[in-house]
Amino acid sequence: MVLTSKKVVALAGGVGGAKLVYGLSKVLPFDQLAIVGNVADDFGLYGLHISPDLDTVMYTLAGVANPATGWGLAGDSWQMLDMLSRYGEDAWFRLGDRDLATHLLRSHWLAEGITLTEITARLMRGLGSPFRLLPVTDDPLSTIVDTVEHGALDFQEYFVRHRWLPTVKKVWFRGAEQARMTGAVAEALRTADLIIFCPSNPVLSIQPVLAVPGVREAIERRRGICIAVSPFVGGKAVKGPASKMMPELGLEITPRGLLQYYAGLLDGLVIDESDQQERPVEGAAVLLTKTLMQTDEDKIRLADVILEWSGSIRG
Ligand code: GDP
Repeated sequence: MVLTSKKVVALAGGVGGAKLVYGLSKVLPFDQLAIVGNVADDFGLYGLHISPDLDTVMYTLAGVANPATGWGLAGDSWQMLDMLSRYGEDAWFRLGDRDLATHLLRSHWLAEGITLTEITARLMRGLGSPFRLLPVTDDPLSTIVDTVEHGALDFQEYFVRHRWLPTVKKVWFRGAEQARMTGAVAEALRTADLIIFCPSNPVLSIQPVLAVPGVREAIERRRGICIAVSPFVGGKAVKGPASKMMPELGLEITPRGLLQYYAGLLDGLVIDESDQQERPVEGAAVLLTKTLMQTDEDKIRLADVILEWSGSIRG
């Protein structure tokens, strides 16, 4: 295990991001890791404000995530959903009984005018996690997925209700033009020694973070310290829609394609050894290693290897 004095900022979505963030949290002191979280798949349901990606990272860091799914709480139950169904509601979004407490509190505090940043910090403290989980913005931001079959869908409708079956024509982020990067995120990016794009869905989890005005520029200003971990293993996504939707959008799901997608932002790319390219990937240092994280040991090993390697890429 490498104990380093680097300040690391990780851009993370949900399940894939949380896996690497977990590893990082085991090898870095708490004051040297800040996670910038995606809020564009936040949505409202029955008056509740739900932040799926923030919650996945938060539950993972606090050690209370459901290990089988990667999201939700370990040992949760579904009685509230059963009751909703009894009332004839179409309970398409899985909300666990204990999970509900998080959404209730968040919604209650938002209604009192408290920012999502402060609320997330309170929830993290409540769960006993000392790490900084920073929503990229406190302003509304929503992923819209334009599909061939159903037209424009809110993200959760595409993802959960339609189980990402529709063909994607375009993805955009409602509210991105007005959204403001928070001061905490600006400060974390400005003072980072290493910025890691986690192996999250590039289009649905990382792009909405980059879409908030100022974030891309803040990262561009820090060239020399920015790396991404590919979410692809053996030429496809480990789970979720990335390897279906990215080709639908004309994007290549190869290390080269990833580098093109994040053009101008990366100095290094971590790719799985199964994705070794015949031609070298140009424009970034490459670390070839096992990136599939099935166990906690895998997550910690990958975090360790990345931190050690990142010392050699500074240009
Ligand atoms: P979501 O918002 O819950 O879908 O989570 P993310 O966007 O953070 O993560 C989804 C991405 O994580 C997918 O594209 C997966 O391919 C990737 N992913 C999941 N597990 C792993 C893993 O163990 N290794 C790598 N390299 N990528 C992973």
